[in-house]
Amino acid sequence: MINKNFVSSLEASVQQLKDDNVYKRLNYLESPQSAHVKMEGRGDVLILSSNNYLGLCDQPEVVSAGIKGLEKFGAGTGSVRFICGTFTVHRELEHALAALVGTEASLSYVSCWNANEGLTASIAQEGDLVLSDALNHASIIDSLRLAKSITKCTTGVYAHSDMDDLRAKLKAGSSARRRIIWTDGVFSMEGSIAKLPEILQIARDHDAIVVMDDSHATGVLGKTGRGTAEHFGVLGEVDAITSTLGKALGGAAGGFVAGPEALCDMLTQRSRPQLFSNALPPTVAASALASVNYLTSHPDRVTLLRENTRYFRGSIEEAGFKPLAGETPIVPIIVGETSAAIRMSDMLLAQGVFVTGFGFPVVPQGQARVRCQISASHSRDDLDRAVAAITSVGRQLGIIS
Ligand SMILES: *Cc1c(COP(=O)(O)O)cnc(C)c1O
Repeated sequence: MINKNFVSSLEASVQQLKDDNVYKRLNYLESPQSAHVKMEGRGDVLILSSNNYLGLCDQPEVVSAGIKGLEKFGAGTGSVRFICGTFTVHRELEHALAALVGTEASLSYVSCWNANEGLTASIAQEGDLVLSDALNHASIIDSLRLAKSITKCTTGVYAHSDMDDLRAKLKAGSSARRRIIWTDGVFSMEGSIAKLPEILQIARDHDAIVVMDDSHATGVLGKTGRGTAEHFGVLGEVDAITSTLGKALGGAAGGFVAGPEALCDMLTQRSRPQLFSNALPPTVAASALASVNYLTSHPDRVTLLRENTRYFRGSIEEAGFKPLAGETPIVPIIVGETSAAIRMSDMLLAQGVFVTGFGFPVVPQGQARVRCQISASHSRDDLDRAVAAITSVGRQLGIIS
């Protein structure tokens, strides 16, 4: 018999989340991720909360590559790569990813979470200093925690995009053996871009290493979607880049670390998710490879994404909202209280528009927001419909007049 106390205490915790209005309800989809989806019990819904930036989740070339990968390689290796063999499609994918983000090599993982988690502990040692931007993704935060407990390296957090704070903390750590700076390329709750050129300069001044998680930028930023480094014209200058295959690049799953050959080789030897967990399923690797190839041969998708973003930002400002300024397809509309963000999101869904609201503690108190995300797959009609719905709900809630 299972432990009843365990179950009842879990039930009480879940009830508390419901009482606090922070319980997450899942919406089930009956069709592929796209600009519109078929949502169980709701029918056609317009999605403005997906990371499907390039609309590749249901791109025919991406889907058929996955089917072919499954047929050619089967479901998977049945073990980890160094024990049982790795597939040629993984090597092909890793070459394509490295070429895309402008590094010598790359190594794939089942998720960017895994890639990040394994990285810090593999490159830091006791006596090293690892600094992280205050708004970095949860996977980076956990990566530092893990590295600290495994290696006894020193970790620290600098204020978000505060270059003076970063400089001061590096200076204080000048006796460290190795200094590592971790930053997101694009910060997901703000839609803001890291000050990469300054971070690189500061890193050179203080003999530090820059590791950038480009999950929201790969396929999105830069003229041809090569990410934050392309956006700033510094391709090839970042020591290590991590990113996901679960957003713009097909949206299935998977992540990677890209950098010098020696780094990827070292991670193959040392990184624990690489050593103790299976590789990306070949069907996913094949779809991701097709996504990279699609992006490379269709840079117009990136242009379309940028134009859609500009159009949506302009329309939403015209309607009287004040979205956080920026140029990424993440457009957060600040509504104030957490309850307002949740109500706005619920009311929009009732009108057939799916946008997620975020409140405290995910974002600071009083800065709750609905976060709109634009895709190249949105038509102008879709964007107009979204703006009309957001405007009508915004008026009902008194957020705009
Ligand atoms: C989404 C995201 C991740 C996680 O990616 P997965 O491949 O889904 O694990 C990691 N880092 C950042 C910055 C992200 O936005």
